[in-house]
Amino acid sequence: MFTPSTSSTTLLDRLTDEITSFYENPTAVVPQVTAEQIRTHLQSFDFCKPIDAERVFEEVQYMMRNWNVQITHPRYFGLYNPAPLLTAVIAEALAAVYNPQMAAWSHAPAANEIERHTLRHIAQKIGLPLEALACNFTAGGSEANHSAVLVALAHNFPQTLEDGLWALPQRPIIYASELAHNSFDKIVKHTGLGLDGLRIVPVNDSLQMDVNALRILIKQDQNAGRKPFMVVGTAGITATGTIDPLTAIADLCRQYDLWFHVDAAWAGAAVFSDTIRPALAGIELADSVTVDAHKWFNLTMGAGMFFTRHAGSNARAFTVRADYMPPSEEAVSVPYLTTMQWSRRFIGLKLFMALAELGEDQLARMIEYQAGLGAYFREQLKQEGWIVVNETPLPVVNFTHPRIRMSAVSVDGVLTKLYAEGDAWISSVTLRGEKVFRMCITNFKTTRADVDSLMDQLNRLVSE
Ligand SMILES: *Cc1c(COP(=O)(O)O)cnc(C)c1O
Repeated sequence: MFTPSTSSTTLLDRLTDEITSFYENPTAVVPQVTAEQIRTHLQSFDFCKPIDAERVFEEVQYMMRNWNVQITHPRYFGLYNPAPLLTAVIAEALAAVYNPQMAAWSHAPAANEIERHTLRHIAQKIGLPLEALACNFTAGGSEANHSAVLVALAHNFPQTLEDGLWALPQRPIIYASELAHNSFDKIVKHTGLGLDGLRIVPVNDSLQMDVNALRILIKQDQNAGRKPFMVVGTAGITATGTIDPLTAIADLCRQYDLWFHVDAAWAGAAVFSDTIRPALAGIELADSVTVDAHKWFNLTMGAGMFFTRHAGSNARAFTVRADYMPPSEEAVSVPYLTTMQWSRRFIGLKLFMALAELGEDQLARMIEYQAGLGAYFREQLKQEGWIVVNETPLPVVNFTHPRIRMSAVSVDGVLTKLYAEGDAWISSVTLRGEKVFRMCITNFKTTRADVDSLMDQLNRLVSE
């Protein structure tokens, strides 16, 4: 036996201390640091001689606490990065302890069945039929979206699995709105569909996919001899939190025999909320769905989910022969033959534990609480003379100020000062040619006082 010199057991107490104290005493939201500063600091780690494990731990702790944007802070109003539930942190540690190999079902029956049980519950909440359902955990929404395109290709053009895309007589076309997630730009590059194979559909005044424009584009492509095969509807657009008209898109897809994918990476968790669920109507009609567990389920990265009602096409897309892999029972779906990854972390444990521990009602309340805070901020903005430019039941607020529209100050100018003060983080997006602020509630620990503090700060900075 080889015993490495790391004194890991003494670190376990430090770890548990850090897990509790970090969230109780958060540091500044925005770090003031340069790459140069960090690189110089890292020079002391030349990996030649061993360093005392406690010192290494302290170094990591220092760098992580001081030199990152603290997305778990209650005044991080940013991208869809949640403050994780403590259960998720514990589940991460447990997953690492057992380190099950998910690829072969027969290597990890317990872990695979825990994931399957959890995913099928979510599928049911979405409204997908369980027979012929294929579902799996992914690294994130990008991988789930990528899986969707691969399965849609296998479904519509099974011959390409043998012959490749180039053998198709007509060019396959995907449709997504101008506000769809840019992972689709990568995916069409990776799959050989090419950026010219991704048709960008404009959005309407409500910042949702314009379904009439979609219909016209589909017809144009058909008339030009191309082959439309897939439409992506987004539920919870990254920039605006708006939701594409999913039922209308589903109708159109049925009419033209197109694969309907719903990218609900962030807002998918809201299927658990009776009050928000109606806004997602139509998601149950999808051929495939993306939901991230590491967004609104308030779990740690990375945890995405992919669902499709076409298990046969899913299996065709991913199956291979590998003699060195252990065989599995007939009746189970074998991860390495039905998903993009091979060796993979036990991603689903944290969602299983969180759902089991919270129960659906508390999960719904956690989501609705955050939506309520978003609505509260909208009201505050309007009362304080700001202009809100998006409408959504989800907690993403796009806004600007008359002084910005008059060019007395700029969005970037305000953001630079906000970041320099370090006390809160919001971002900006360009909508209809206008740069506006984007604020999102991503933390169930955020309070009205945190939102008020941001409001005060913005009022001050916009009038300077
Ligand atoms: C976040 C997001 C993605 C990408 O998901 P990752 O988990 O970051 O890979 C895709 N689509 C939408 C709508 C998203 O919000």
